[in-house]
Amino acid sequence: MRVAVFALGGTISVARRGESDRLTGAEIAAAVPGLEELGVELDVRDVHAVPSGSLTFAQLLDLVGDASRAVDEGAAGIVVTQGTDTLEETAYLADLVWPHDAPFVLTGAMRQAAMAGADGPANVLSAVRVAASREARGLGALVAFNDEVHAARWVRKSHSTSTAAFVSPNTGPAGHVVEGRVRVLAVPPRRGVLPARYDTARLDATRVALHCVTLDDDGALLSGVADTCRGLVVAGFGVGHVPARLAPVLGALAERMPVVLTSRTGSGSVLRHTYTAPGSETDLRERGLIDGGLLDPYKARVLLRLLLAADADRETVAKAFAEHG
Ligand code: ASP
Repeated sequence: MRVAVFALGGTISVARRGESDRLTGAEIAAAVPGLEELGVELDVRDVHAVPSGSLTFAQLLDLVGDASRAVDEGAAGIVVTQGTDTLEETAYLADLVWPHDAPFVLTGAMRQAAMAGADGPANVLSAVRVAASREARGLGALVAFNDEVHAARWVRKSHSTSTAAFVSPNTGPAGHVVEGRVRVLAVPPRRGVLPARYDTARLDATRVALHCVTLDDDGALLSGVADTCRGLVVAGFGVGHVPARLAPVLGALAERMPVVLTSRTGSGSVLRHTYTAPGSETDLRERGLIDGGLLDPYKARVLLRLLLAADADRETVAKAFAEHG
């Protein structure tokens, strides 16, 4: 059995504080106790050794293309090692376009390799186990971290330093790795797969803004956004509310481009028709905002950008959010 490993940068590739030379994928794998004994052949490739905050959609889609070819050539699954900062977004991006049953598993580390209790090796071991497992087939993109398995659709980075930083607040983990066994508890539903090929120039030019609504927000920060961006995600209060005076600003923007309403709370769904005051979810929907459902603002932005890069019109965007949100 073969698993293809794509090594990006991030803490998992940092040997010790202050060192700029990054560990290669082979060096990361060589430091994992018990990996060889799994009997899984690893095809390790080094790509984009950068902090995860510097990754681009285009680089990630290229990686998904290479991973897809690896599966066509016989790999049972994929492991991606990367920085943890954007892992919740990259995992969801991969999930949206991953067409195979073979697991696409992302992992990283919160502690550098030379630190006491470095978590990279255990996370890589789990990730390879998940990628090679029958249990994880057909589940799309998964995050293996801290002996847990999270569905890309739900996972969040919820802590800046903890080795238990990855959680799925809406659902809990999709599974666990117990004594080396992959135990899947909750099967995430697979939704329609988006095209994985995009024109890079068009993708780069497809800017999607994310505006987090705050107390006493007058919307001044949004001026000009429709001139530079093709879409906007609004992270509203609670169930999808904004200050009354922001509602007409968002309504005017929704006439020029898709504007998706999400919640800034970190879990739960925006509502559709419970409150009716100016700035409520009902008011905003009547003004043309699209319901982001259970998608958090970061994931909603990933979906919206892919849709707009493929020139989706407003109706197609609304349909996609009804399906994925
Ligand atoms: N800043 C790092 C990154 O995302 C953090 C990490 O890897 O945990 O690349």
